[in-house]
Amino acid sequence: MSLYIDSMSRLHHDLEKNLVVTCPHCQTVAHITPSAVPRFEDLQLYRPAQVGLVYLCDACHMPIFLRFTVRVYGATRIELSPQFTEVERVREKFSFAYIPEDVELMFREALTCFSQGAFNAFASMCRRTAQTMFADLGEAGRLRLFDELNSVRELADIAPEIFAKMKGVLFGAELDSQAVLPLLDGYEAGIMLEVVKDLLYEAYVRKGKLQQAIMVRRFFLDETGSHLGLPGGDGTDALVDEAPRVAE
Ligand SMILES: [Zn+2]
Repeated sequence: MSLYIDSMSRLHHDLEKNLVVTCPHCQTVAHITPSAVPRFEDLQLYRPAQVGLVYLCDACHMPIFLRFTVRVYGATRIELSPQFTEVERVREKFSFAYIPEDVELMFREALTCFSQGAFNAFASMCRRTAQTMFADLGEAGRLRLFDELNSVRELADIAPEIFAKMKGVLFGAELDSQAVLPLLDGYEAGIMLEVVKDLLYEAYVRKGKLQQAIMVRRFFLDETGSHLGLPGGDGTDALVDEAPRVAE
């Protein structure tokens, strides 16, 4: 295994063909190609312990920054350790369509904390997301979310101690305003992330999509009377209670 920068500032990497990362931009597991290498003279002059290289994602062509530790400053080559640090982490994605603005504000920050590996900051923002949802949905909505959380436990077969922590994070402050947030590790935070996404989906996205779809159906029905155009009928016409219009 050899990885070095030569005196012409060219990068040599014998395993270059196998260099694959999860791209922080397109989230594809993609091969990356070197696109910017620091100048040999500069490195020789300052001799930093680590050097940064820029690669291009082969899938989306966005830049990817990797940081390598220098092994040896030789006269004609600078040898790097093949292990690298990915400077940008993969950002968690979530579609905020149908989510109220104040809830979005909280959950966006929760996602940023998670992407940065700040899992307890993430937990704090999940609690604030939940509190904003409760304020928006009212008491009935809060109870519905609580039921939803319980059903998620069964659906996803979540371990009891992780479930207890999640309940503490999301609902703890509702039962006792002094309730301390439990500490989460990366694994627990990952499960929490999926559960909060599901709660947001159930509370807003599902309803929003359904309402949208029904509105679109009504619109086309009103515009074209297209319910007449179903040859043979598939039973859906029975749902239409207005008098059929004649299609032109
Ligand atoms: Zn990419």
